[in-house]
Amino acid sequence: MQCYLADTQVYGWVMVQEKSCDVLIIGGGLAGIQAALQASRMNANVIITSERRVGKSGNSVIAQGGYSAPFGHADPRDNPEVFYEDIVKSGEYLNDKDLANILAKDSCRGVDELRRAGVTFEMYGKKYAQKQYPGHSYPRNCCISKEGGINITLPLLDQLKRGRVNVLNHFHALRLFVVDHQCQGGLFISTTSGEMIVIGSKATILATGGGGSIFERSTNVKGSTGDGFALALEAGMALRDMEFIQFYPTIMMSPVDNLLIDFSPFGGDITLLNRKGEPFLEKHCPKAPESCTRDVKSQAIFREIMENRDVQGGVMLDISNLHPRELIENVPSFVRVFKVRNLDPFKETLIVAPAAHFFMGGVQIDEHCNTSMEGLFACGEVTGGIHGANRLADSALTECQVFGRIAGEETAKYSLTRTFGKCLSPIEAILAEQAKDSLVAVSPSKIMAAIKGIMWRHVGIVRDGKGLEKGIQELEKLRNEFGQRKEVSDRQDIYQVSKARNALTTALAVAKAALARRESRGSHYRKDFPTQDDRYLRPIGVEMDNCGNLSAF
Ligand SMILES: Cc1cc2nc3c(=O)[nH]c(=O)nc-3n(C[C@H](O)[C@H](O)[C@H](O)COP(=O)(O)OP(=O)(O)OC[C@H]3O[C@@H](n4cnc5c(N)ncnc54)[C@H](O)[C@@H]3O)c2cc1C
Repeated sequence: MQCYLADTQVYGWVMVQEKSCDVLIIGGGLAGIQAALQASRMNANVIITSERRVGKSGNSVIAQGGYSAPFGHADPRDNPEVFYEDIVKSGEYLNDKDLANILAKDSCRGVDELRRAGVTFEMYGKKYAQKQYPGHSYPRNCCISKEGGINITLPLLDQLKRGRVNVLNHFHALRLFVVDHQCQGGLFISTTSGEMIVIGSKATILATGGGGSIFERSTNVKGSTGDGFALALEAGMALRDMEFIQFYPTIMMSPVDNLLIDFSPFGGDITLLNRKGEPFLEKHCPKAPESCTRDVKSQAIFREIMENRDVQGGVMLDISNLHPRELIENVPSFVRVFKVRNLDPFKETLIVAPAAHFFMGGVQIDEHCNTSMEGLFACGEVTGGIHGANRLADSALTECQVFGRIAGEETAKYSLTRTFGKCLSPIEAILAEQAKDSLVAVSPSKIMAAIKGIMWRHVGIVRDGKGLEKGIQELEKLRNEFGQRKEVSDRQDIYQVSKARNALTTALAVAKAALARRESRGSHYRKDFPTQDDRYLRPIGVEMDNCGNLSAF
């Protein structure tokens, strides 16, 4: 069945198209593309949308390309059961155990599927060249042979283009249509022309990724500001685990700014030093400082910085024990970046600091990627529960591959048994959109900058009750300023305002969940409650009431 284009009409200054499909996918990163491929293989009529370009946007394209799968090629003792144990241990036992189990079980199949699609991995003969990273009991990282997640998404995009999937680039999802607690599609705006599209669907998949860019220092792409979390909350769904943000410990600040290099292959051969030249990881991880997981390392660095033992806001990375050949073999992109700038890494003072990297929390799904709302499914970083309180290195691409496939399969099956619902008419949709606080007096870019500052200062790596309350107060104040209306003069404003409003909603969800969790666990560290308290061995949820206020429960 072809997607039909029912109508194109003009309402005031807005041109609106209507489209429909069996399966609508919002988000064109690895999770979304994988879902689209799978649903179309099962003969569903699919539309995939991205506010940028499908397959060329989101964090998937800038990922380094590490994929965890327990083939046991480097150590035969590895298997899915050990992988599962590592996932829940790293998640401090807050994980959704069923989802964690699926991740562990289906991860190897995911690598084989990617290879069939044309993605190439580093191999020794017929075996994957598997490396070991902190938190993993055995070497289980399979690395794509050309660095960069784009080398995963591009071969998949080729497949997508060869199939029958309808790809809509540059369309930002403004809202989901929910009628009688059933999702029936969404309203989109073109980020280039301002044209609006109403898409009716039998099943919808949220695959909008995470929200790391709501923090001042972040590894994420600019647009990764939590749209999917806000869309879900506004549609009436609760989120879980939003307090758990993984900070990547060693993002370079100088001499190259914002460079992510994974130095874990070097283990104890590199050392982090504070301003006094002292190694400090031993204090925080006495048994094996070189194998600290990201949460422990980030908190240790942050404390050195806050206690004035920093160097220009970071700490030093001492690589003097390494041979240049080891750098070329293990971190070629690092060597390239320095060479292009005519810098010698052995002669420079390398300064690193943590940056927001990954959202463990999000939309709760079940084993079939169903959310709590009829007709709405989710996969990828927008979901919560798989990783609990902290994610193991290189298990996010695995998650996108495994759950993207499941979401595609399940929505294709689901849509076969459904007819189209009574979708809102375009004019109703636009009026509903305009009824929201989307017309603002403060410029969206100023709001966005303010959010990032507040999140970094008050909701960052080391938190306490007073700081979190202050952060919430400042975010609420921004929200009130947002409520003061003014005419929108440019259609682009609608897109920018929607981004800022969603970022604000996401920021408040994180801050409120962090305030409610009065203990420290995984990536969530409260200096007023520095130890684990098993009364909190349960997910904290966040929901939105009819007036748009958020509360944690
Ligand atoms: C620098 C970096 C390196 C990483 N390296 C690794 C690694 O080596 N291994 C690993 O396992 N993980 C890694 N990760 C994590 C991993 O890349 C991500 O978790 C994963 O790619 C997320 O995929 P996704 O499909 O869920 O979302 P994304 O890839 O982020 O895609 C989201 C998509 O949704 C679209 N979108 C967002 N909002 C809207 C909206 N309102 N309307 C329409 N479209 C929208 C975006 O444009 C994009 O197309 C890394 C992350 C970063 C930042």
